[in-house]
Parts: sequence; structure tokens; C-alpha cells
Amino acid sequence: MGLFNRDRCEGKTPEQLAGMRTAGLLVARTLELLSAEVRPGMTTLELDTMAETHIRDHGGVPNFQLVPGYRHTLCTSVNEEIVHGVPGARVLREGDLLSIDCGAQVGTWNGDAAVSLLVGGPDAGRPEDVALVEDTKESLWCGIAALRVGNSLYAVGAAVEDSLTASGQRRGREYGIVEDYVGHGIGTSMHMDPQVPNYRVSGKGPKVLEGTTICIEPMVVLGDQDNIVLDDEWTVVTRDGSRAAHWEHSVAATSTGLCVLTALDGGQARLHELGASYSPIDAA
Ligand code: MG
Ligand code: MG
Repeated sequence: MGLFNRDRCEGKTPEQLAGMRTAGLLVARTLELLSAEVRPGMTTLELDTMAETHIRDHGGVPNFQLVPGYRHTLCTSVNEEIVHGVPGARVLREGDLLSIDCGAQVGTWNGDAAVSLLVGGPDAGRPEDVALVEDTKESLWCGIAALRVGNSLYAVGAAVEDSLTASGQRRGREYGIVEDYVGHGIGTSMHMDPQVPNYRVSGKGPKVLEGTTICIEPMVVLGDQDNIVLDDEWTVVTRDGSRAAHWEHSVAATSTGLCVLTALDGGQARLHELGASYSPIDAA
């Protein structure tokens, strides 16, 4: 496939979407488990081991390990780390802002999702961090709700950005949206074309096709979005040391509506609140 195809969406059949839902549900359940188990005093490597065991016990393969040079199941990004934090001996402390990114392949198909949370619960976090986590999650759902067959894929990023502008204004701050890393298509591999910007871009953009599956994943910071990669060659941190949040879902678009493949309820509740059509996909 040449550069020519980089911006095209690909459609999947109902059978293929059922496989995608199976993989997405395994990722959803793994993140649910980790979110319930994380606590101060744990290392990020303990979370990684828990995730790998859960995925393999349920018939999946940790697809992050299929990325050349990466040996872990998760990315665990703490505080000023935006994405691609490598699990290790770091001990989580009360009030840390932790982003957990997780993926699994089941059979042919892949899921990929991320959550952000405050270690020790929201009460343990700085108010601005709690707001950042909530507002980033809200922007993800606004981006999801803007996905529609026949429309431009770029509507997603515009909705993410508008949501964060509104949240920021409400809170009297200006959030930074990271532009160096973007969402992506997903299917037989975790990372596929097209790129999915989490911010407004000019141009027509690829058209969303029947059965398109993409990952939407806003990375949002309290300060400036400028970032650097640490010497481990993975961990992306804010240059100004401000804290970051990252939320992600894998989503399927069909002419009857959306299914959030990595949400336990398929997104039914939130999509309803946002006025978007929900269209269930049963796991294979
Ligand atoms: Mg991810
Ligand atoms: Mg992703």
C-alpha cells in the first residue's frame, strides 16, 4: 500500500465487526480490572503483569508486544508522562495521575483503549488533575459522537477540540491538545491507516465508510502541548512538566449507528446522552 492510501477508511463486514467486538471487550474488561485494582504502593510492572495474565487467560495476545522493540502489555504514563510510559519498578503514589493504555488481539482482530485515573481515587488528586481527567474523557466521547458514516473523519477531531475549549472556558483554563500523536485505524493490526487527529485540521479528510473501525485517543495537558521523548526512547513527557491525561476507545461506525468496541456497554449509555445513535455489535 502506497502513500496514496494513507488517508482512506476501510469498511468491515458484520462478521469482521463481531471479531472486533470480541477483542474490544477483552480490552474493556482488562482495563476495568486494572482500574479496580490499582492502589498506592503498587508498581506499574505489577499492573502490567496483571493485564498480561488476564488477556492470555481469556484467549488474547497482548498486541503491544507485537510492536517491534516493545515487551510489555501496557503503557503506563504517570503525571507529566503523556503516552508510551514503560511499566517498571516505579511505585505509584497517592494522587498520581496515571494513564493506562492497553491492547489485545483475539484471533485476527485487535482492540486498543486507554483510561486515566487518580491513584487513591479522585479525593486523593489535585482538583486540576481531576478536572483534566474528566474533561479529557468528555472530549473523547464528544469525538466518538461526531463519527458518522458518510461524513468526514475530521469531524471527530473538531468535536474533541470544541469540547476541550468549552470545558477549559468553564474552568478558567486553556488545555493543550497534543498534536504529535494521533488516533488511527484498527483491525487486523492495532495501528492502521487512516490517521485520526484528536484536534481540528483543515481539509476535507477521508470519508467514513460503512464498517469503519478507528481509535480516537485525545492526549490533553494542563500546560503547553510541547513534548519530548525520554532516553528510554518510548516515554513521551511534557516539556514544561505539566500533567497529562489520555483516554482512548476503539469505535465502529455503521449506517445504523455507533458501537464503542472497547466499552463494556458498547457505549449505549453515553451515546444516548449525547444524542448519537447506538448500534449494538454482538461479540463473535
Ligand atoms: Mg492505545
Ligand atoms: Mg491507539
